[in-house]
Parts: sequence; structure tokens; C-alpha cells
Amino acid sequence: MTTAQTPVDLDVQPTPLALLLLGREADPRSERGVECPGDLPSPSDPDLVERARAAKEKLGDKVFVLGHHYQRDEVIQFADVTGDSFKLARDAAARPEAEYIVFCGVHFMAESADILTGDDQKVVLPDLAAGCSMADMATAEQVAECWDVLTEAGIAEQVVPVSYMNSSADIKAFTGKHGGTICTSSNAKRALDWAFEQGEPNSTKVLFLPDQHLGRNTAVRDMGMSLEDCVLYNPHKPNGGLTAEELRNAKMILWRGHCSVHGRFSIDSVNDVRERIPGVRVLVHPECKHEVVAAADEVGSTEYIIKALDAAPAGSKWAIGTELNLVRRLANAHPDKEIVFLDKTVCFCSTMNRIDLPHLVWTLESLAEGNLVNRIEVDRETEQFAKQALERMLALP
Ligand code: SF4
Repeated sequence: MTTAQTPVDLDVQPTPLALLLLGREADPRSERGVECPGDLPSPSDPDLVERARAAKEKLGDKVFVLGHHYQRDEVIQFADVTGDSFKLARDAAARPEAEYIVFCGVHFMAESADILTGDDQKVVLPDLAAGCSMADMATAEQVAECWDVLTEAGIAEQVVPVSYMNSSADIKAFTGKHGGTICTSSNAKRALDWAFEQGEPNSTKVLFLPDQHLGRNTAVRDMGMSLEDCVLYNPHKPNGGLTAEELRNAKMILWRGHCSVHGRFSIDSVNDVRERIPGVRVLVHPECKHEVVAAADEVGSTEYIIKALDAAPAGSKWAIGTELNLVRRLANAHPDKEIVFLDKTVCFCSTMNRIDLPHLVWTLESLAEGNLVNRIEVDRETEQFAKQALERMLALP
């Protein structure tokens, strides 16, 4: 049975990261920031909506507000466009007249927007502490160490890195530098097909960063590999916890990272919803664990989920395994269909939720007064290599 062999992810983050999460430390190279450097309006201010509207109006075409699908309703109402991280970065690049790109999302998304937009455009993240726990699980130092391990095992030349969009600019740059590509949850199979075509068919391997689940699900579910073809590299263990022989025998070297939101869905959630709602179709995101994906009826990215529910017939029943803000909005948008959240407990992306209306108002008002705040800027060398990896993705067939 495939389910028994899937590694359980119980990563406990070290104390320094917890401090960063609480906004008491700063690490500009990671996905964590600091507390708001200005005076935030009170969340109970009854004029917040009006203030956001007025500031946005004052800025006019100078500002372009991007809203990720997982954002709160109070924020998404001010988004000029909504979408997943890659779509939003491309939308921003298509608006060169906008001096300020306000990214209501998380840190790595703002970095990608900075990489893809012009030099004179400034990307702003309303709360610098809005990071991504998955992106944080692969640091530049850890990945460089991993490459040393692969070199010592004599296989680095056979390895093509493929990094998920949900990674820091440093990891994207590493990927570009080593001839690899970026992927999204929509094109992961195409990216892996491309990677395996880069060298000898029988000896090429992929180092997949940082989401083990997307890597494993794509390799096993979409490409017909076995679970034994995949090994898990744990950056917290010497040599990743793997022998040189295990590395040499693997086709997919999966980084031990996961999404703390999608990683929470379990096989029990699937069994339970099938019992509660007879005839329900279970639709989950590929960042979910392999056993959850194997038990689901359909698997797809957020864009896939949105389209599948748009196209579903009235009266159909759906249990959705992705972030709760999006599931709630989809349920409200389709009152003729029964759409429920896959798990019984709430499951927001806590870091994404840090972007709230007070932060957005503070950001827009600061920009309207001519004060550039919370800029996310990727240095030139990192940008150059990260762009190479992103361009390889854009060129995928
Ligand atoms: S939902 Fe998961 S992958 Fe997306 S930003 Fe939140 S923690 Fe990161």
C-alpha cells in the first residue's frame, strides 16, 4: 500500500523561527520580517473601508493592488486582480505604468513580482511578517549544503533542480544557476518532463524543492513513478539522512518541506466527509499528502479548483481541500451547489492572514503621502539567476 510508505511530516521549527513569527526578530534573507514600522490604524476604526478607498483613489494608476486567492475578504475587495502567485506576478509585469505594486500575499510572492517587474516599479508587502512556512523550510545555506552532499555522492552533474514557485528568491536563483526551472502546481508535470529530458534518460535525477508533497504527487500520480523512486532529503540531518547509494538509486530527491495548511488534511478528513455527505466529490490541492491525494476524486491547483466548481452542475456536492478563505468564497459564489471545507477544523494560512485591512490602509495611506514603506527588493545577482529559472518555466511546452 502506498499510504504506509509516505513519510509523516512532523517538522518542529527551531526557536529563532518562532521569534521571527512573533515579529520579535528580523531576517531579511528569509521569509520572515518584522513588526509594522508605522502606526497602524485600529482594527475597530469604522472608517477603514472608506480610508482604503480614498487612499487608493488618490493614488490612481500609480498603484496596482494584487490579491492572492487565500486573502481575507476585507482585503480582497480592494484587489485590482486576484489569482495565484504566478498569475499575479505576471499581471503586475503587464502594468508598467503602476509605480507601486501592493502585493496582498506573502513574501516570496512579492519577491517574484519584483523579479518580473521593471526596475522603476516598487513592490510593497503590507505586512513584512507575512511569510510562507513552506518557503522557510529551504534556506540558501541548507540547499548549498545539499548540493555538496550530491557532489560527494558523485551525482550532482546528473541532477536538475526543479523548484516550486513557493520558494524564496535565493532558492529560485540557486535553481537558475544550476540549470533548473521553476514550476507551479499547474505545470509541475511539464516541468518534470522537461527536467528529465535535460540529460541521459536513465541517469537524470530531479532535486525537487521545497514541497515534498507536490514533488511526490506529480512523480507518482502523474508520471507513473513508484514511491521507491523518491527519497526524502531532510536538511536537519547529516547528509540529508540518506546514504550515497540511496541518492544514486533515486530518480526524485524530494526536499523535506511542506505547506502547513494543505499538510493538515488527512485520510480521516476524506473518510469522514464521505460518510457525512453521500455522493460528495473530494477535490484537493496537490500540496496535500500523498495518501490524501490518492483518496481524492480530483486533484488540482487553486485555478483548477475554481474552474471545476464553476463548471460543476447545480446540486453537485463538493469537499474542497485547500485554504479556507478561498473555500468560503467559492461556497458563497455557488449557492446552487453544496461546497464544504474538507476538514472539520478551520485551516487558514496564518501568515497570509497577517495582511488585514489596517495594514492595507496604512500601506495605501503611506504611499499616497509619498512615503514608500515595506518595499521588497531582490538584489541584482539573485534576480538575474532567479529570472533564468523563471524564464525556463515560461518556455516550457
Ligand atoms: S498556503 Fe501554504 S504554501 Fe501557501 S503561503 Fe500559506 S503556508 Fe505557504
